[in-house]
Amino acid sequence: MKKPFVSKHSLLLSLGVLAWVSFSARSPQRPLPKPKAGPPVHQLLATPQTVTWGYYDATAPPHLRIKSGEVVQMQTLVACTPALLEEAGLPPAQVQPELRAITQQVTDKGPGIHILTGPIYVEEAMPGDVLEVRIQDVKLAVPYAYNAFTPGHGALPDDFPYARMRIVPLDLKRQIAQFEPGVEVPLRPFFGSMGVAPPDVSGRISSYPPWIHAGNIDNKELVAGTTLFIPVHVPGALFSAGDGHAAQGDGEVDLKALETSLVGTFQFIVHKGQHLNWPQAETPTAYITMGFNEDLNEAVSLATRNMIDFLVSEKHLTRDEAYMLTSVAVDLHVTELVDGSKGVHAILPKSIFTTTRK
Ligand SMILES: [Zn+2]
Repeated sequence: MKKPFVSKHSLLLSLGVLAWVSFSARSPQRPLPKPKAGPPVHQLLATPQTVTWGYYDATAPPHLRIKSGEVVQMQTLVACTPALLEEAGLPPAQVQPELRAITQQVTDKGPGIHILTGPIYVEEAMPGDVLEVRIQDVKLAVPYAYNAFTPGHGALPDDFPYARMRIVPLDLKRQIAQFEPGVEVPLRPFFGSMGVAPPDVSGRISSYPPWIHAGNIDNKELVAGTTLFIPVHVPGALFSAGDGHAAQGDGEVDLKALETSLVGTFQFIVHKGQHLNWPQAETPTAYITMGFNEDLNEAVSLATRNMIDFLVSEKHLTRDEAYMLTSVAVDLHVTELVDGSKGVHAILPKSIFTTTRK
């Protein structure tokens, strides 16, 4: 792990004239609003022809090709079916037509339930590189979300051996979810799932467990203005995103966040030959390392070891110093407990570094 968090000067490769892509699949959908500022972007709508349902796979055909440095605005849909949303009380007119079309027309589904928009082929990306994903913008697309639990899932499956689902109205003006009268949850939208294809020998993997390809990491820190770094495993990286969350607590204990549809704007930058083993992230104020494993203790070890590696390679501490500094300045968070592989992330505040360490 030589340079997990990559600085501005390595923003590179081509930032040419970008174009709005024209879709081979003409759908009745409305175009997304163009972003106010920044470079022109590609646009990837969610259609039956531009999504994968429930998996990451090295053999999934890409639905958009871009160059490193380019920006893509992606429409993503709530991880649910129209029937379930309506059963929970959502008026049929509020179900997005895109969700109806995809539910009816996409037959190759599973094993997961997430509708992922993509994949996107990034031309320069090759195995051994790192894909930097700058999350420029995350917009809520509908004025509702849902939460639910089902028997056999979540952190307390024996306590709740039945199913419940609730539609939660979102007040986009006040940026809160009206969970109940008198209970308002601040909105902090992010993508539960952002990932690349796993190594081809892994075949099709479920969209549920996060892994070295990132995927369903459910990390609530990764809001607009943050950056995710993902190891590339196949040519083109094959990035997809979905599983929009309007808000979520660390742990995501009942298996669901405030599940909703989002529109994300991402800039993709390829870093050649970085050899990152696990996904990492950077916020304006912190560095984040991660670990995913079925065993929470193992996930703790991975996130901690990845932080020590970072401190050694990037901040030039000895391993002993790095272990000590992790103990005194790094917070470990339980990202999620419910996706098969449990997630732990370690947060290192940037503010402790008072001079540039070389
Ligand atoms: Zn979710």
